[in-house]
Amino acid sequence: MITLKQALSLPKEEIVQIKKDLKRKIEEQKQLGAYVEQLIDSEISELGDGVPIAIKDNIQVDGWNITCSSKILQNYVAPYNATVIEKMLQNGLSAYGRCNMDEFAMGSSTESSYYGKTLNPFDPNRVPGGSSGGSAAAVGAKIAIAALGSDTGGSIRQPAAFCGCVGMKPTYGKISRYGLSAFSSSLDQIGPITQNVTDSAILYDILAGHDEKDSTSLNIAHDKVSNNLNPDKKLTIAVIQNYLEEASPEIRSKMLEAIKALEESGHKIVYKNMINSKYDVATYYIVATAEASANLSRYDGVRYGRRAEVNNLKDMYIKSRSEGFGDEVKRRILLGSFVLSSGYYDAYYIKAQKARHLIKDQFEAIFKEADLIFTPVTPTTAFEFGSKKDPLEMYLSDIYTIAVNLAGLPAISLPIGKDDQNLPIGGQLIAKILDEQTLFDGALSLERALK
Ligand code: GLN
Repeated sequence: MITLKQALSLPKEEIVQIKKDLKRKIEEQKQLGAYVEQLIDSEISELGDGVPIAIKDNIQVDGWNITCSSKILQNYVAPYNATVIEKMLQNGLSAYGRCNMDEFAMGSSTESSYYGKTLNPFDPNRVPGGSSGGSAAAVGAKIAIAALGSDTGGSIRQPAAFCGCVGMKPTYGKISRYGLSAFSSSLDQIGPITQNVTDSAILYDILAGHDEKDSTSLNIAHDKVSNNLNPDKKLTIAVIQNYLEEASPEIRSKMLEAIKALEESGHKIVYKNMINSKYDVATYYIVATAEASANLSRYDGVRYGRRAEVNNLKDMYIKSRSEGFGDEVKRRILLGSFVLSSGYYDAYYIKAQKARHLIKDQFEAIFKEADLIFTPVTPTTAFEFGSKKDPLEMYLSDIYTIAVNLAGLPAISLPIGKDDQNLPIGGQLIAKILDEQTLFDGALSLERALK
């Protein structure tokens, strides 16, 4: 598959041809379930002549049926473009194909989608990760040049790791959330899923920047990173010793090889420890569900969402929501409403906010001595469909990614090898707030060192 960098230098006529070829490849790989809507002929001309980028089903594209892969949003048609889509259109890109995801971005396997599952391009018996599983599977299967995902607790980085691609989550506030269906507003960020680090930096530059339509958007000038990529800059990189020790043997061995490659490239490695990641998980599932319970109240069959057939108002709310949401979404709304309810608010929600502060402080302390932090992305490689029966077990898929969202930091996941079953393994680099330049410099250095 042509890279984004290559595609951006092609004349418009060639892009039209690339779109036609892509359409055929997508049809051929229909069984993968990466896209939720088969592309129709008219879309090729209607979508303009920009380089095609696949879009997660929770980012508004004017005139598209955007559903967050939920039953409750079937037939909803987006009436405007998200800011990221506008920026893409202004920079020679176009939205092309809607990608499958976990319902309302809640999950780590894309199994909770109303449309059914997406297969891992490396093994059809395994999940592609989630919640941006469709976006990552499309890039990993080479039926997308690049894709947009969203990351609340790891939903870009974890599927990217499972599908052998590069996934990046920016500093909170760097990319506008205007037009992204809100899951947990203080954690959500849109970001690129690409074939390599350079494409990630290019797409990040296109998407980033202040947006007055998003009150949480950072009001600072965006310095482009892709023009200044410097893989030769010597950095101090902190490896989290306790994460390395608890990782599965195949992940540990690839991490050790990557650390060696970083050292041989001239970077200085220091070893640090972080608190047990079970506290990150507990904190995240209080903050994220609390915010989700508030954000999802708008889907009531009146303001938004499919309306159930009933005779009175109360039943309409109850039935519309009971029929429209899947089990995982309901579980989170219940949990979120509980932790916000009077009597429990202080014990859970306020406590979680304090823990969030400690997690942030912990990163700051490490960043006093290091430019970047290097960790695994996931505790295991892609798991088999149906293997995580207990929701709590599924929640552990994100133990290495969620603290990054709680602290608002930028991070990137990139391939560092494969296990003996040919399943991809990812490594994660984390940078200081707003230091995306160092993040991409380090990632490019690691990518080159492992080639
Ligand atoms: N897997 C995590 C969750 O289920 C993260 C999801 C995400 O980043 N959108 O909440």
